[in-house]
Amino acid sequence: MYWQLTSSGHLPDEYDVAVIEGAATTGEHIETLRKVRETAAVVIALGTCAVTGGIPALAGTLDYDARYGVVYGDGIAVARGRQVPVPVTSVIAVDYQVPGCPIDPAEFVKVLSRALMGLKDAIPVDPMCAICKTEENICFLDQGKACLGLVTRTGCGAKCVSLSRPCTGCRGLSPEANLPAARRVYADKGLDPAELDRLFDLYNAAREVVL
Ligand code: SF4
Ligand code: SF4
Repeated sequence: MYWQLTSSGHLPDEYDVAVIEGAATTGEHIETLRKVRETAAVVIALGTCAVTGGIPALAGTLDYDARYGVVYGDGIAVARGRQVPVPVTSVIAVDYQVPGCPIDPAEFVKVLSRALMGLKDAIPVDPMCAICKTEENICFLDQGKACLGLVTRTGCGAKCVSLSRPCTGCRGLSPEANLPAARRVYADKGLDPAELDRLFDLYNAAREVVL
């Protein structure tokens, strides 16, 4: 195992299964990812930052430099790397993805088992609303509140919505999502359609790169 926070050891020469979490935020990360991809039989991207860039990827889309002034005051220069945080999936090909912020440990165990048995990735693709309906939740949109379940990849069991909180899209965009239709639904429910895209950026600002 190589875990930079707990070990000063060198990268192993090869891996049976490489599990990679976090967004790539430096040139060194990019190099390491490429090296791991060359030497690993199987790569799993773990967590939203690795799969879609997550919250770190916001740094690539917002007026990041201008915001330093807001946080630290005018005239304060803050050194930072020039690498815009990007998801692992945009740097190397991965064999399995476990999205979620946080991940569901049971889903990770399932994916790891599939990797060890040589089975294909079986990540869910549908949007979450159908599962939400089977949980008999009252739709937030019907209450005039924004929810991203209609474009977000299912697989969490509509966890937040079942706990009375709107979905904020941490599992990423469903490949089956119909974004134009979702924006129309927002408008029909008296919500600003642009709000859907704005809210979705929280975990998915790098989606143009990966989807
Ligand atoms: S929009 Fe949200 S609350 Fe409404 S059905 Fe879909 S997941 Fe459930
Ligand atoms: S309901 Fe939405 S925000 Fe909550 S865990 Fe599921 S995908 Fe993530």
